[in-house]
Amino acid sequence: MSLDDLYMEIILDHYRAPRNRSGELEPHDVLVHHSNPLCGDELDLRIRVDGSDAARPVLDAVAFEGDGCSISMASASVMTEAVKGRGLADADDLAEAFRLMLHGEGIKREDDLLDGVAFQGVAKFPVRVKCALLGWMALKDAMSTYTDGGAEHRVTHD
Ligand code: ZN
Repeated sequence: MSLDDLYMEIILDHYRAPRNRSGELEPHDVLVHHSNPLCGDELDLRIRVDGSDAARPVLDAVAFEGDGCSISMASASVMTEAVKGRGLADADDLAEAFRLMLHGEGIKREDDLLDGVAFQGVAKFPVRVKCALLGWMALKDAMSTYTDGGAEHRVTHD
């Protein structure tokens, strides 16, 4: 089995058996809705933040719900596993590492990305990059919305 085949298997596994996919996360602090009209991907992302240590708020829970292509839904599933339990600043840094990887700028924090490394080949297909980034950009938006004291946000990526 080639590495490309292995990565495809990982992506399909997350698509068929998504992690942390649930329309409900109660209570949650922030709900964001992100869409990618180019492909028709729609994503709701809810986060719950443990702010008991004000100096280091932590992602206590992350859940997504959506309707979209296999790349977008699998990537969101991978994202929830990679960032749960991380501090917001750390999770933001990890999302940035994923974004740079999708733009062909090398792989940082490979071990922390977990199954996220399987998406590196998507960089070769620019039309699919937005699909792979949807969940991660929603996460970044949800965290900054939390930091700004907001509770809901809608973003269209076009
Ligand atoms: Zn898509």
